[in-house]
Amino acid sequence: MADKYKTGSGEICAVKYCSNSRKILFLRDNSECGEHVAILHKDCACIRPFRLHKFPKNEEKRREWIKALNRKELPKHICVCSEHFKDGKPTPRNPTPKLKLTYVTSDVNSSKFIY
Ligand SMILES: [Zn+2]
Ligand SMILES: [Zn+2]
Repeated sequence: MADKYKTGSGEICAVKYCSNSRKILFLRDNSECGEHVAILHKDCACIRPFRLHKFPKNEEKRREWIKALNRKELPKHICVCSEHFKDGKPTPRNPTPKLKLTYVTSDVNSSKFIY
């Protein structure tokens, strides 16, 4: 567990084209809330726009995630933000990322499927 939390390692959502990251959360937490004037987001009751969920330890779930991510190269630290989970986080019912997986919509029609 040597380099688990290197500062600035920049955990970012592993879903293609999604740019939600630890840094964005950090910047948001330290910015002033529009509704709760003069309070920083981290001190107010507003719900965070998203959360980052770590790659599961369970081997089977990991494979499901990798399949869902559908990326050739996976980042070193895999995180997926809450926007891709039906329940907003991995749950027993919906343990894998399913929403806003953008690759699904990109020119599926024009590509030939060869099996
Ligand atoms: Zn607020
Ligand atoms: Zn995301």
